[in-house]
Amino acid sequence: MPTVTESPKRFVRRREDFDCANCRKQVLGTGYTNHCPRCLWSRHVDVAPGDRLATCRGMMEPVGVLYERGEYLVTQCCVECGHLWQNRAASADSRNALHGLMGRAVKSPAASNGRRRPTER
Ligand SMILES: [Zn+2]
Ligand SMILES: [Zn+2]
Repeated sequence: MPTVTESPKRFVRRREDFDCANCRKQVLGTGYTNHCPRCLWSRHVDVAPGDRLATCRGMMEPVGVLYERGEYLVTQCCVECGHLWQNRAASADSRNALHGLMGRAVKSPAASNGRRRPTER
């Protein structure tokens, strides 16, 4: 474990390489995303984006994908505690995986804070 000398209040960009616990792909961390570009799973490590303060550490299953204003938004649900999380997809993410999850009816975490929702089918 490297010593972190930065103030914990500041966003600290950390590159974290990890092995995907779902599909075993070796993922090279960019410092901004910690989900697997192949299967889109990640871990429940953040309370607010990037803070790594969650103690849950459960696997976050991708449950749906929205395409909004030129970006893919991946909704993940923690298999341990049911926490919903919405992530921007990275450019390295598998388009096949993203498209396979599009159109799934999911509860969007954005829906509860009054953000505009895409039209529902
Ligand atoms: Zn994976
Ligand atoms: Zn969790």
